[in-house]
Amino acid sequence: MNIDGKLTAKKLRSELAVEVAELKSSCGIQPKLTVILVGEDPASQVYVKNKIKQTQEIGMISDVIKLPINTEQDELLGYLARLNNDANIHGILVQLPLPKHIDESVIISAISPDKDVDGFHAMNSGRLFNGDSGALIPCTPQGCIILAKQHLGNDLSGLHAVVIGRSNIVGKPVSMLLLQENCTVTIAHSRTKDLASICRQADILVAAVGIAKFVKVDWVKAGATVIDVGINRISTDDGGTKLVGDVDYDSVVDKCAAITPVPGGVGPMTIACLLKNTLAAAKRSVH
Ligand code: NDP
Repeated sequence: MNIDGKLTAKKLRSELAVEVAELKSSCGIQPKLTVILVGEDPASQVYVKNKIKQTQEIGMISDVIKLPINTEQDELLGYLARLNNDANIHGILVQLPLPKHIDESVIISAISPDKDVDGFHAMNSGRLFNGDSGALIPCTPQGCIILAKQHLGNDLSGLHAVVIGRSNIVGKPVSMLLLQENCTVTIAHSRTKDLASICRQADILVAAVGIAKFVKVDWVKAGATVIDVGINRISTDDGGTKLVGDVDYDSVVDKCAAITPVPGGVGPMTIACLLKNTLAAAKRSVH
C-alpha cells in the first residue's frame, strides 16, 4: 500500500494553521519566514515559490529576498546579520544550492541557530545528536519519521531501520531520529559491502541515495516499510520526463507492506515540516 504524503502533509498544515491562529490571538505573534534566493535556478525558484505560498496559506507571514547570481559572500552575510537581528523574523532559510563562489557551510553557520528552520546549523545537528528537544530538525528527515509512523504507529521500538545515504541533509539526521525512536539503525553508503543483504534485514528501509530505481525488489524484506526520499527526473519512452524515487517502486510495491510513492510521498512533507519548524521557532521566541 502507499503511504500518502500529500494527504498527511495537508493534515499537518491544517493542524499548524490552528496553532498559528492561537499564537496570534494569545501572544500577538504571527510567525514570519524570510527566504533568501541567490540566482535564478529554475528548480530553486519553484521550491521557494511553494514555500512562500504554503506559509501564507496557514496564516504565517513570508517574504523572499532575491539576489543576483554574482552576489558576494560578504553581502549575503550582511543580509543574514540583519535578518538575525530582526525580532519580527522567526525563520530564515537560504535556498540551496548556492552559486559556486559562495561557501555554503559559512552561510549556514551564519544563520542564528534559533531561526535556522532548515535545521542545518551545527548547533542544531548537535542538539539532534544529543537528543535535545530544542533542536530544529531538518525537514525531510522529520517528514520520513511522520510517514513511517503513519503506517507503523507511534512505537518504532526494536525495529531494524536501514538508511541508505549519509548526507547531512537526509541520511545522518534521519538515522539519528530513528535511533531516538529506539530503532536499531544501520547506515549504509557508497562503500558499504553487500548492500542488498543489509537492506533485506530492514523492517524500515529509507532510501536517500539520488539514483533512480536503485533499490531492487530482492533487496526488500516482505512486509517492510519503505521510505523513498529520492527525487530523480528520468526520460520516458514518449520523449518526455517523469519523477521517480530511489526505489524500483513498480516491483517493490507488492512485496513491502507500505511504501511512500514518488511523487506524493516524502516530497510534500518537507515543506509541511518547514512550516512546523517556523512555528516552533516563533513559539520559542516568546520565552
Ligand atoms: P547526497 O548526494 O548528498 O547523498 C547521497 C548518499 O547516497 C551518500 O551518502 C552516498 O554515499 C550514498 N550513495 C551514493 N551512491 C551509493 C551507492 N551506489 N550505494 C550506496 N550508497 C550510495 O544526496 P541527498 O542526501 O541530499 O539526497 C538523496 C536523495 O534524496 C536525492 O535523490 C535527492 O534529490 C532527494 N532529496 C529529496 C528531498 C525531498 O524533499 N523529498 C529533500 C532532499 C533530498 P557516500 O556518502 O559514500 O558518497
